[in-house]
Amino acid sequence: MPRYEPIEHGVEVLGSSINSTISSLPENIETIANQIFAQHGIENPVDEKWYPNETNLAALSEIYEKLGSSMLQKIGRDKPKNTVWPPDIETATDAVMSINEAYQRNHRNGKVGGYHAEQINPSHMKLTCNNPYPCQFDQGLIEGVVFKFATETALVNEVGDECRKEGGEQCTYEVHLY
Ligand SMILES: [Zn+2]
Repeated sequence: MPRYEPIEHGVEVLGSSINSTISSLPENIETIANQIFAQHGIENPVDEKWYPNETNLAALSEIYEKLGSSMLQKIGRDKPKNTVWPPDIETATDAVMSINEAYQRNHRNGKVGGYHAEQINPSHMKLTCNNPYPCQFDQGLIEGVVFKFATETALVNEVGDECRKEGGEQCTYEVHLY
């Protein structure tokens, strides 16, 4: 079973991020998720409060074990729906380029890695993710962000020869808008 851990001990995550995870699960499973977080010491998280990311990631490891990797992908995919977006973000490209900023706003206290986005041309972007979240979660997150804003067909594919699923330190994804 994979065990997701922060890059550095002491890193904290905002409660709103944990609540977004809990609310993206179907109602009958939401209770299980609440129990999982409670077992790891996070009970009734408050949006504006900070929690140890170690605990958040341990809960995600357990969600993977109990519900499978596609649940992690769904949690990632739902995240952009549960997010208040700055009004200056209008296109899928703007949104992809802003993922890292949002991620940094929701994490603090040490090395957290990130979502390093590069625009190759107006319809092609590349993201290198060296954060401690699961590969499937990030695949879903990027899809959620792109699908929310894309007016055309969009595809997100993992590329590159390193993957966190296989013990790598980062995953790389390409976004194509057609
Ligand atoms: Zn990967």
